Amino acid sequence: MISAQEASEIILSAVCTTGQETVDLTAAHERVLAENIIATENIPPFDNSAMDGYAVRGEDVANPPVMLTLVGEVSAGQAPTRELQRGEAIRIMTGGQLPPGANAVVQLEWTEVVNDGRVRIQRPVTVGHNIRRAGEDIQEGQTVLEGGRELRAAELGVLASLGLKSVEVHRVPHVAILATGNELIEGDKPLEPGKIRNSNSYTLRALIKETGALPVDLGIARDSRDQLKGKILEGLASDALVTSGGVSVGSYDLVQAVMKELGVGIRFWKVNIKPGMPFLFGVYKGKPVFGLPGNPVSTMVTFLKFVQPAIQKMRGMRHPEREFYLRAELLQDIRKTDGKRHFVRGVLENQSGRLTVRTTGSQSSNVLTSLVRANCLILISEETEFLKKGHLVEVELL
Ligand code: AMP
Ligand code: MG
Repeated sequence: MISAQEASEIILSAVCTTGQETVDLTAAHERVLAENIIATENIPPFDNSAMDGYAVRGEDVANPPVMLTLVGEVSAGQAPTRELQRGEAIRIMTGGQLPPGANAVVQLEWTEVVNDGRVRIQRPVTVGHNIRRAGEDIQEGQTVLEGGRELRAAELGVLASLGLKSVEVHRVPHVAILATGNELIEGDKPLEPGKIRNSNSYTLRALIKETGALPVDLGIARDSRDQLKGKILEGLASDALVTSGGVSVGSYDLVQAVMKELGVGIRFWKVNIKPGMPFLFGVYKGKPVFGLPGNPVSTMVTFLKFVQPAIQKMRGMRHPEREFYLRAELLQDIRKTDGKRHFVRGVLENQSGRLTVRTTGSQSSNVLTSLVRANCLILISEETEFLKKGHLVEVELL
């Protein structure tokens, strides 16, 4: 059986990034940039004041208190109309363009206006005080954002400040979802003997959306070759297909056989993990096909470990693997002897600066409420057999 690490490598090397399209900046939120953005301007575009106060010449106010003649005002949005001469001050507001001749701004709190049109500067300021220089944030010619980066609020603000109206981004992958099982009914139908409600389609839909892709829900296929064939074929029209259930060794676990019949090249089946061991991965005409085990926790965990990084790569993210883990102090002993990599549902807490983690209790892969209680997965390596209370373990936030 292959390891989680090998499974991730096979998947990531098999998936391709979607093509690109131009979108309006207002529609670019959470899309992934497909071009490098080079600044064509300085930000800020001119030297300006960081405070409300008075624009002065540093030389004039080296030995306060000094009286300066008030000769005008620059508010934000106005261009200065006059050059500052020796012995003068110009009232300036935050963001106001620094008048020529000025080289410092004294904040209002350090000054006092005298009735005769003069202002008293109470404290010394040095050249450059309270001045935001042109290009301090972004310099013309600089690569501000690199392709492969997700556009969050800050990135969109930067693009807007540079005057961009549209950007090149990767196309949003369409990911088909298919629940399988004779026992499944939809939530709006009354329960019948032996039946359960389909929950996986709902968790998968949310997970796919959270990953920045578009879910295409194909509903439920019964455990019959014909129905599976029809629905899987429909799913193969999307950029990727995620099925749940039917990949184990039961008599009605037909997903793998049907996929093979349809020409899906199975790359592996079963990974040395818990939960989610019977995970299946294949490729059809360059599109990834994920067969997730049906137990709701296995479905979610295998999605997070294997499908999510693949979708991230598809949508253009340069570093699709999760970037960091936290280390937390285990609040209980954990034992295991099966040689599998475990993803244990855990509750991470900050106890006065100490990160601690405990398990959510039962780790049965059908107990979906344990994932409601959990805020992290505790990662336990294959060879680990015993972790003592107090041990530092790696956790991944959910
Ligand atoms: P399977 O992988 O098909 O053997 O299913 C394993 C377990 O997961 C069974 O108890 C199924 O009833 C359950 N299961 C499968 N699909 C779903 C689903 N879409 N929603 C909720 N439970 C499911
Ligand atoms: Mg089944």
